[in-house]
Amino acid sequence: MSAPIIPLSLGTWPTPVEPMPRLAAALGLGRDDLFIKRDDLTGLGGGGNKIRKLEWTVAEALANDADTLVTTGAPQSNHARLTAAAAARLGLRAVLVFPGEQGSARSGNLVLDAFLGAEIVFSGVTGQEALADAAAGVCDRLRSEGARPALLPFGGSSVLSARGYVRCAEELTAQVPGLRTVVVALGSGATMAGLVASLGAERTLGVDVGAVDDARRRVESFAVPHAPDVRADALRIDRGHIGAGYASLGKSVEEAMTLSARLEGVVLDPTYTGRAMAGLVAAARRGEIVPGDRTVFLHTGGLPGLFGHTEALAFAEDLHRNG
Ligand SMILES: *Cc1c(COP(=O)(O)O)cnc(C)c1O
Repeated sequence: MSAPIIPLSLGTWPTPVEPMPRLAAALGLGRDDLFIKRDDLTGLGGGGNKIRKLEWTVAEALANDADTLVTTGAPQSNHARLTAAAAARLGLRAVLVFPGEQGSARSGNLVLDAFLGAEIVFSGVTGQEALADAAAGVCDRLRSEGARPALLPFGGSSVLSARGYVRCAEELTAQVPGLRTVVVALGSGATMAGLVASLGAERTLGVDVGAVDDARRRVESFAVPHAPDVRADALRIDRGHIGAGYASLGKSVEEAMTLSARLEGVVLDPTYTGRAMAGLVAAARRGEIVPGDRTVFLHTGGLPGLFGHTEALAFAEDLHRNG
């Protein structure tokens, strides 16, 4: 049997919780009902939820004597950017394997990947399976060159990394007594899974961003090893804000980003946190979140992606012209 994995410390803990009284009032909630958990302020590499997961996955890579971190994602992947930051912090190599071909100009997360010194491979392929094969091929090449690569899972999500969000839920339980609901973006799944494992399915509302086809099953598979009672059909998942996919910006997301920025000075990204906030707004309007309930919005970071998102930049132009 191998030794248990001890997580690294890569971030700034615990992350703060702040009130959102003006947004609460705008949604018909009490001014003391709505809070934000600032997991955008985790520190390293510009911050974001991937840091808590990397504390586990990179610890495992180091336990396996890796000297190179390899991972996959969309070109605007926050997980890829923060993998590059963790590698820089620890003196490792990072190789990021993306689908498709290199575009013309670097923007958003790709700018930061360059500063962080990551090697980028545009694999030319599309689809998750082909991308996983391409990453395995990159690992073979690295091994043949004498490197010791560790392949981190898509989005950094695994049974092991869900523990990072079990710990976040423990922080929340101490910071927000009487917490009723936490609202979080659901991408590759381990963030919601860790919260569900600690807080229970009933208190966790995941807003699917459409990153994977089988989000419900993935959340279940990452949560159950930590909390055997979790059942897929009990998970609360809102699929109403996926729209036409990652690169699209729906009306509900435009509204959520604008409300949050103008009422609280909290900036959201169009792919993850904007959708999560759209889900929170919709739940309040449906009466699923009611006055007197203590609700937490989990800010998972992702701001660099805004600057690589064509539709969001066009929407900002619109706001400049029309207010
Ligand atoms: C990856 C990501 C998420 C989703 O987390 P998962 O654990 O992949 O479900 C949410 N917000 C941001 C900003 C992210 O980068």
